[in-house]
Amino acid sequence: SDYLLEVKGLKTYFNHFNKQVPAVNGVDFVVRKGETLGIVGESGCGKSVTAMSILKLLAPEAKIVDGQVLFKGKDLVGLNDRQMTRIRGNEISIIFQEPMTSLNPAYTVGYQIGEAIRTHQKLDKKTTRSRAVEMLKLVGIPDPDKRVDEYPHELSGGMRQRVMIAMALSCNPELLIADEPTTALDVTVQAQILELMKSLKEKFHTSIMMITHDLGVVAEMADYVIVMYAGTVVEYSDVKSLYNKPLHPYTEGLMNSLPKIDDPKDKLEAIPGSVPSLYDLPNGCSFWPRCPYAQEICKQEKPELYEVDQRKVRCFLYSGKIERR
Ligand code: SF4
Ligand code: MG
Repeated sequence: SDYLLEVKGLKTYFNHFNKQVPAVNGVDFVVRKGETLGIVGESGCGKSVTAMSILKLLAPEAKIVDGQVLFKGKDLVGLNDRQMTRIRGNEISIIFQEPMTSLNPAYTVGYQIGEAIRTHQKLDKKTTRSRAVEMLKLVGIPDPDKRVDEYPHELSGGMRQRVMIAMALSCNPELLIADEPTTALDVTVQAQILELMKSLKEKFHTSIMMITHDLGVVAEMADYVIVMYAGTVVEYSDVKSLYNKPLHPYTEGLMNSLPKIDDPKDKLEAIPGSVPSLYDLPNGCSFWPRCPYAQEICKQEKPELYEVDQRKVRCFLYSGKIERR
């Protein structure tokens, strides 16, 4: 199959005072080779927990309780720490929003890239250093021979994110998970980093899982998109169809809150209300308290994922049970 990653029925629960809290509640999706999958939703929808479940970097109180994470056909859920260490950084890498928290302030960036490489490959010091310089150059850092000996605080935010990308790609992983990689950066630098990721993807045929709350970033980067809400997938679509016509009312709301290109002063229409607490999810459709189309059935029954033109949407409007009014 051309699936690099296949996530099936993934459930990750948090144990909170002996209550099981469903942070990820039955999530399915695939990432094909060379494809970018966008995962969109507001914070608290389960995007990051999904990523951390794949890499098994969960907090101690979180646990995968069901499902499979098939990477090249092999289920990662049952692997132990030692086996996961071989995969992390080498076959699947992750970059986070704030590089300052993932870079160690006490070591030079060259040393840290070197360590990322040496976890997986036996190289002598000199070769490691020149590989680090090479990686810095690849991600567009000027004067890489000099920068390689600098500490994270000596670099700008954009450059630190480039260093993170260099580290993440240093072992040529097949899958790169990027969790809000540009959220902390200003708009210009954000555009540069996305450009960089796109060109590196072309060059190395890396598949990317791009986690973001920003549908603009997804439009820029992704081939397919899943929209998450309250720990579930509410829409799964190719990117073009999603932008042409969002199906789920939540996706529609996210779309309406994007700044308008032709009239940037036009006030953004944010979705009213907020993401429900996972400790106390509403009965029925999790989105009903915020949904302009909600009807009686929505408050009582949980919608399934319905298939519509090769797309999937978790909403009764597509079940034949209710109509938009
Ligand atoms: Fe809105 Fe009902 Fe669809 Fe939920 S199932 S998104 S409440 S219309
Ligand atoms: Mg997050």
